[in-house]
Amino acid sequence: MNKHDATTLVTELVGDRAGAWDLAGRIPGEVIAALAGKGVLCAEVPTEHGGLGLSSVDNGELTATVGALCGSLRSLMTSHGMAAWTLSRFGSADQQSAYLPRLTFGALATVAFSEPGAGSDLAAMTTEIARDGDSVVVTGEKVWVTGAAHAELLVVFGRFGDGAAIVVVPADTPGVRTERVPDPMACRAAGHADVHLDHVRVPADGLLGGAGLPVTLLASAALGYGRLSVAWGCVGILRACLKATAAHATTRTQFGAPLAEHQLVARHLADLHVAERTATHTCAHASRCWDAATPETVAAVLLAKHHAATSAARGAAAAVQVMGSAGARDGHPVARAYRDAKLMEIIEGSSEICQLALSRYALTEWS
Ligand code: FAD
Repeated sequence: MNKHDATTLVTELVGDRAGAWDLAGRIPGEVIAALAGKGVLCAEVPTEHGGLGLSSVDNGELTATVGALCGSLRSLMTSHGMAAWTLSRFGSADQQSAYLPRLTFGALATVAFSEPGAGSDLAAMTTEIARDGDSVVVTGEKVWVTGAAHAELLVVFGRFGDGAAIVVVPADTPGVRTERVPDPMACRAAGHADVHLDHVRVPADGLLGGAGLPVTLLASAALGYGRLSVAWGCVGILRACLKATAAHATTRTQFGAPLAEHQLVARHLADLHVAERTATHTCAHASRCWDAATPETVAAVLLAKHHAATSAARGAAAAVQVMGSAGARDGHPVARAYRDAKLMEIIEGSSEICQLALSRYALTEWS
């Protein structure tokens, strides 16, 4: 399957049902299975492991398409893709051969960093990963794990001796308990759940490479993928907002003229257009850096995530304004975009955390 076929499949499977899924808090299992089973949710995995082998640029455009259709499905795509990337980045050849084909043939995976006391500050993680002979024992609490309600595999980050480690935990292992986050404000069908790990024992070959490295180093490697995926998802949010507002502003007449001819409304449309174009360009630049593995990649991904998320939050607010009461119903695409976009400023490095890191790049380059 290529990017075009994947785009067609997603578009057909989602159709206009995302609003209903959001209200129900659930994407039908057969939709998730159909996409995960064809490798669409982790499309950068190489073909030798059953993936589509897409570049970051092509997967980015696919992610934007999903983001425009359904923020919850895009969230699952981000976490499943981030799990696959973490396995590719830190797994040995044997671990990659063991796990990646499972992911591309439909076993949903998710990534668990956050804890009640460790959000932006991941160094405060307390989940313990300890070796015990041929096993690894994991104990701790993870919160807000996207897709954990559906996942078969959990990629868990925790403390390991003086450093940190990543371990793959099958979700049906004794001692794992998931509890859905009740009534999330947005991306409501993404199966967010808290995960309780009570002396969970898994074979030691679930421990990925890099064990003992600082947690910030391990987490930032995995988060790079998530940030870029969220950024492309935000491009999708802006495109969905443009589609809805362009249709409405040209057909709704007030004071004897279509809304689009009133200059203050036209300004909103111009701002949305600029936001979508600049977010697309910053994301495409970051993806090209990612594909070429240039030294600029980390900074380009941060810039893309921060710019796309803040632009989507502002753009979705403007879209609600242009729609007026026509968009003010729960389930309407712009109402959903408005809620989803706000959370994009919090996840995968909040706007403030991105700004702190970007300020360091600014000082390095300009002081
Ligand atoms: P806090 O860290 O408590 O921050 C609260 C506010 O303070 C934010 O505005 C933040 O920017 C600001 N702040 C914090 N520190 C500073 C600072 N030094 N300087 C300036 N401002 C600061 N976690 C996972 O592990 N896996 C997932 O799949 C996952 N999915 C998620 C999906 C959703 C929809 C949401 C809402 C969360 C998800 N999370 C997930 C958790 C997410 O990673 C955290 O919410 C995020 O890291 C922020 O942490 P926090 O919510 O604890 O906020």
